Amino acid sequence: MLFMRPGSGWIEVICGSMYSGKTEELIRRLRLARIARKSVQVFKPELDTRYSSTGIVSHNEQSLGSLVVARARQITELAGDAEVIGVDEAQFFDDELVPVCEELARAGRRVVAAGLDKDWRGEPFGLMPRLMAVAEFVTKQHAICVICGNPANFSQRKTLAREQVLLGAGDVYEARCRHCFQVPSEEQLRLFDHSPELD
Ligand code: ADP
Ligand code: ZN
Repeated sequence: MLFMRPGSGWIEVICGSMYSGKTEELIRRLRLARIARKSVQVFKPELDTRYSSTGIVSHNEQSLGSLVVARARQITELAGDAEVIGVDEAQFFDDELVPVCEELARAGRRVVAAGLDKDWRGEPFGLMPRLMAVAEFVTKQHAICVICGNPANFSQRKTLAREQVLLGAGDVYEARCRHCFQVPSEEQLRLFDHSPELD
């Protein structure tokens, strides 16, 4: 593992609801890092196959090449000598992502991780609260509430139909503010309780 100047590594988290521009912001930061002639490596979890199997893609179709990994530990092996490490859809990684990011930061790497802070129930998403706690910098993005136009930080699951989950994110979730977000019904909770989908 490449060790850089002491004190140069840190963790940045970009969080928020769906459509809040997390991927867009991640891509922007990594592009700037490349302009600054830093070596960059991007990772995403195997689960996220939205639009592209090899790149990270935002809802407005910006993209950046990335490596798909099944386990967070693989990031340590595959990061190589990259000075800046991007992680998209961080919420879908296993819990090891937190120590992995901390080790990389301690070794002088800049880690930029984007992920949903809340699931479709409105509850904190998996490892994200812990990653946000250990990060030096946390940016909370907002989408636009599709009901009232206020800043949105919830992801509303619109449908009960399981088939629509398979068809793609656009038809299944929408951004809503706290006031317009409806806590999922008992039926939705029963149907989707074990579904990891939120994108
Ligand atoms: P995220 O990674 O947070 O899901 P993306 O970066 O992929 O978000 O996409 C953000 C883009 O989504 C916005 O720039 C905008 O073009 C589009 N978009 C679609 N619906 C909304 C919405 N309700 N609020 C904000 N942006 C939206
Ligand atoms: Zn609203």
